Amino acid sequence: MSEQERRKPIHILLVEDDPDAIRTIWNMLHEKSRYDFQVDAVTRLPEALNRVASLPVDAVLLDLLLATHQDEMDAVAAINRANPQAAVVVLTTLEDEQAGLEALERGADDYLLKDEIGTRSLIRSLHYAVERKRYEAALSTSEAKYRALADLSPDAIVVSVDGKYAYANPAAVEMVGADSERQIIGQTLFEMTKSEAEAAQATLRHNGASRKQHPHTREVLWRTLDGSSINLEIISTPINWQGHEGELVLGRDITERKELDVTRAALLEQEQIARKEAERAVAVQRLFLGMVSHELRTPLASIKGFSSSMLATDVTFSLEEIKEFASIIDEEADRLTALINQLMDMVQVQAGVLRMEPRATTVREIVDSVIPQMMTLAEQHHLKVALPDDLPDIFADSLRIGQVLVNLVGNAAKFSPPNSVIRLSAQACDNAVKFQVKDAGSGIPETERDDVFDVFYQGATRGGRKPGSGLGLAICKGLVEGHGGHIWIETNDGPGTTIAFTLPLEPIITI
Ligand code: ADP
Repeated sequence: MSEQERRKPIHILLVEDDPDAIRTIWNMLHEKSRYDFQVDAVTRLPEALNRVASLPVDAVLLDLLLATHQDEMDAVAAINRANPQAAVVVLTTLEDEQAGLEALERGADDYLLKDEIGTRSLIRSLHYAVERKRYEAALSTSEAKYRALADLSPDAIVVSVDGKYAYANPAAVEMVGADSERQIIGQTLFEMTKSEAEAAQATLRHNGASRKQHPHTREVLWRTLDGSSINLEIISTPINWQGHEGELVLGRDITERKELDVTRAALLEQEQIARKEAERAVAVQRLFLGMVSHELRTPLASIKGFSSSMLATDVTFSLEEIKEFASIIDEEADRLTALINQLMDMVQVQAGVLRMEPRATTVREIVDSVIPQMMTLAEQHHLKVALPDDLPDIFADSLRIGQVLVNLVGNAAKFSPPNSVIRLSAQACDNAVKFQVKDAGSGIPETERDDVFDVFYQGATRGGRKPGSGLGLAICKGLVEGHGGHIWIETNDGPGTTIAFTLPLEPIITI
């Protein structure tokens, strides 16, 4: 008791109907006491209850003989109800000591035997009762404070002892999906958690065993009672819980944060894809400009050069020479036309507006229609065509698929030595027809196999630079995929290249 509290008067309400006893007690409390007792006396219980409820009373001295036996006990409870802060010391007699003991059980703070009462024992008893009451009040205030904090906390607060819930605050109860704390107390955390959380709990107990003092933070998937799971970030630390080694686990629901992370990651990925596409578009544009200036200018320059020569007035050319010039101009004009056609096709494929006219047809019909062109391209090679008789009919734009075959055979001729064999074959497979164009040339290295179908991609020079635009395979890919098929480089056993593509028997034309 502090000095200041010691000087504060202690209010005593004496409930006693015997005037002698009142006087005796009054004298005792004012005689040689260092404390300032203020004593009020009432003779009846209802009056006492009124006083304790309305006036400051630190302790009630209650004569148990005031009421009938039944009421004696109710009297203690009634005083406690009327003023829970007031201590109650009951006065009883030696013959009825049992009543004093029972009063303690009903909430009295102490009892005194009237026959043996002395100044010292009276003062000590009152002090003890008042102090105890104050301590209890302070304790319950601080307990209430912490309980309120735990009750209001939006984060889960859990205490586990031996892997079982020993305490769970309302947030934890709600997160687990239980109706009340009682529903989960004593249940093992394992039943509530997924393997990650189980592992986390195992670590918790391990940490507890080794008495590591540092709180441990990690993310776990916590299974709720209905079987769904929530992402929790938990901080755990060993504690002593009512004499047992346990773990204090603070858990925060980070499901929303996780979802945001996922959305953010998806957005980031989309942004990266968009940026890559934009970079690629810029690169393609640059290549395009480079190509236009080089590939288109070269034939134009020779057309311009030879036509200017023919028109020159200061030189006379023989008929032979003029014919040769004219044939060069003719070839270069063809080259230019082919290039411009390729560019037009590519732009349309990329914009998704290339017109296709599919109809029911046969592989043989398509191949036959382009045999002359392929023979011209492969005039220095042995072109071998193998088409089984039982190939199913297909539904395709013959002109476009013919264009693909011409392109592949042209590449085969371009990248393989003269006199070597170029094989064009087709076969039925899985609701599709598979075409193959195989040559015995330089081959395409493994590392370039995905790139060769890119716009303007031209492979590393093997055996001298070949004329080309880097558009042929990109257009082939666009046309085949536009029919719902696939095109790829096959792995060859021997040297050379095999390019294969499939056309579904009933293609969905997507261009
Ligand atoms: P290009 O006009 O350059 O031939 P393509 O798109 O047709 O453009 O081909 C792209 C690249 O693929 C070529 O530059 C070449 O490196 C490689 N390629 C295509 N076909 C073959 C083949 N049959 N043999 C070896 N390399 C090939």
